[in-house]
Amino acid sequence: MTIQDERPITVWLDIDNTLYSTSAKISQAMGVKIHNYFVKLGLSDEEASDLHHKYYTQYGLALAGLVRHHDVDPLDFDRNCDQALPLEEMIFPNPAHRKLLEDIDRSKVRVWALTNAYKVHAERVLRILNLRDLIEGIVYCDYEAKDLTSKPDPAYYRKAMALASITDSSNCYFIDDNWRNVEAAKQMGWGHCVHFCERGLEHVEGGKVIRISSAPDTSESTKHEEKHGIKVISELEELRVVWSEIFKSA
Ligand SMILES: [Mg+2]
Repeated sequence: MTIQDERPITVWLDIDNTLYSTSAKISQAMGVKIHNYFVKLGLSDEEASDLHHKYYTQYGLALAGLVRHHDVDPLDFDRNCDQALPLEEMIFPNPAHRKLLEDIDRSKVRVWALTNAYKVHAERVLRILNLRDLIEGIVYCDYEAKDLTSKPDPAYYRKAMALASITDSSNCYFIDDNWRNVEAAKQMGWGHCVHFCERGLEHVEGGKVIRISSAPDTSESTKHEEKHGIKVISELEELRVVWSEIFKSA
């Protein structure tokens, strides 16, 4: 039996590099694992770097290109990349983040995670961060079904809304460190979009090191995003201000 959740507001939290800081260098470690996976397929270092970046840019996930062009099993990729990361030595619970999620008014708000990772990685990260019990549902990239639809594909946001039985996108609150994902959510009509932007830190995307800035990459970028109704924050604690209406009143 499906019980209709009458709570009007849904908060969607990205997990990686949002619920923990990019300074944990998970993206660097992940980049190395993925590179090694390409090399294991018989590619040279140079070919591996080129294809890694190309697939990431083209499909949003390097894995999507590996499945499409190299007949890779996503579950094998997951075991050798995400699951092989020593996360327990790299990220740690932050009591302030736990308190932040505890202070959300659950009588009107449900809190879900929306990740491009597979469920094994998502569950593991949330458990290590001591946040798992505060997340009511997880929308993940379904490696088992070989369905690699992911953010920022609009179909993925529609899937998320369907899974949570949401029809009113204006009541969706969303935070992600990847501005393309935030922009896509905004275009889907998600009402309250936040770009988590740890400006200046180094991050690895598609195997390439980038320095984080908000988008587009100019000194005016934060203003640009805010003009388009996207809030930019660099600390999760700032959600208490930009999303003040979803928190329990003191
Ligand atoms: Mg992220």
